Amino acid sequence: MISIKDKKQCCGCSACMNACPINCISMVEDEEGFRYPHVDTAKCINCGKCERVCPILNVEPEEKFEQKAFLIRNMDEQILKESTSGGAFTAIAKEIIDAGGVVFGAAFDDQFEVHHTYVEKYEDLKIFRNSKYVQSNIESTYKEAKAFLDAGRQVLYSGTPCQVEGFWHFIGRRKYENLILIDVVCRAVPSPLVWRKYREFGIKNSENTLQEAAFRDKNKYGYQYSQIRLKFSDGEVREAGVESDPYLRAFFSNLSDRPSCYECKFKKKYRVSDITIWDCFDVYLHDKSFDDNKGVTRALAHSEKGRQIIENLKNCKIKEITADAAVRKANELVNTVRENPSRNDFFIDLGKMEFDELVEKWFPDSLKVKSERFIRENFEKLGIYRPTKRVVRKLLGKE
Ligand SMILES: Cc1cc2nc3c(=O)[nH]c(=O)nc-3n(C[C@H](O)[C@H](O)[C@H](O)COP(=O)(O)OP(=O)(O)OC[C@H]3O[C@@H](n4cnc5c(N)ncnc54)[C@H](O)[C@@H]3O)c2cc1C
Ligand code: SF4
Ligand code: SF4
Ligand code: SF4
Repeated sequence: MISIKDKKQCCGCSACMNACPINCISMVEDEEGFRYPHVDTAKCINCGKCERVCPILNVEPEEKFEQKAFLIRNMDEQILKESTSGGAFTAIAKEIIDAGGVVFGAAFDDQFEVHHTYVEKYEDLKIFRNSKYVQSNIESTYKEAKAFLDAGRQVLYSGTPCQVEGFWHFIGRRKYENLILIDVVCRAVPSPLVWRKYREFGIKNSENTLQEAAFRDKNKYGYQYSQIRLKFSDGEVREAGVESDPYLRAFFSNLSDRPSCYECKFKKKYRVSDITIWDCFDVYLHDKSFDDNKGVTRALAHSEKGRQIIENLKNCKIKEITADAAVRKANELVNTVRENPSRNDFFIDLGKMEFDELVEKWFPDSLKVKSERFIRENFEKLGIYRPTKRVVRKLLGKE
């Protein structure tokens, strides 16, 4: 039976819970807000299934095979705007829907908690667009997706690499003809509890509720400086960039991530998925014609099925690049983020402080932050932010 002794050795994929034949595993949030399996030992029959499907106990060895890589831009301007990078996910998912299939991914519920769910209509794909920088709750979607597969429906299952590998083990590592697996390159996932406290902080009137949320909103400054944006029922809009916003600052300083992300077993070039998708901020190194601050998805096809689906995408601008060029600077594809030495203190404070106190202590709007914001925003308005950044990167030998 599954038993978690070291939290770094559980990515919270829920494969064990989905696999248990007598449903005696539940996923329970710890004090940091991350879910871990809890076994009702009185009911457990010691069948061992939970251990056999765990992607951490059964790490998939990395084996080399031929890969194809692409830059993808969805030509639908609205979809492109709503998507994190180039809107490739929606384009691929549309192929599955058009074939009468089902698409699984991460979406907000009406309380803005993030869960995995599925859709069967093209217009509903909207709920999956834009990265949610918080760990998604898989719930019973592995079982649901397998039921669709066994019934012969086309299925696209998407998620973080650990979720996709968890699903792969759950289906017995079987190559279903009617299954497409897509994983995103994943830096790490922040705590659902931090997200919950953050989105509620500063609301003075309890009738004022969150109406819209985007972690990577391109509307104000475009793709290169996308911002977190929350819109409330009283009309208030809160938006801020990575140097200013407390939630993004916690995420990008490695304070709020799941412990397993600091020893991630799924950062690798050769994956069990058919396609891996991620950002392409340095697209000018590959093809300047994409470099217009609207966003481009980089995609690595690990299978023939993945390659074919990309090459036949409709209403997309696609350029093939070599797999080596695609991964050359893709740090988050293969390298694990380093745990911030103050992470424990941060979560202790999260447990005992009001969120505005926590923000004041951990993420003050200091002179340094104000200056960075001033430079970013004004350089962006003048259209010189990106060229300046490239010159600085060159001077630092990063390009
Ligand atoms: C938590 C997280 C961390 C990421 N880290 C990096 C990174 O370090 N570097 C990088 O280049 N790219 C990263 N990405 C990927 C990137 O943000 C885009 O998802 C990718 O470029 C595809 O964009 P798109 O425009 O094609 O599709 P979009 O429509 O923007 O992407 C939608 C896809 O993202 C999935 N998704 C959204 N939120 C979650 C979630 N919480 N859990 C699981 N799946 C989710 C949806 O299910 C769908 O498959 C990350 C994504 C996530 C979710
Ligand atoms: S050993 Fe079998 S019955 Fe027990 S928790 Fe694991 S899957 Fe469930
Ligand atoms: S990694 Fe996944 S399968 Fe393994 S114990 Fe954690 S939730 Fe269960
Ligand atoms: S960093 Fe690794 S362990 Fe963490 S969510 Fe991403 S794939 Fe899973």
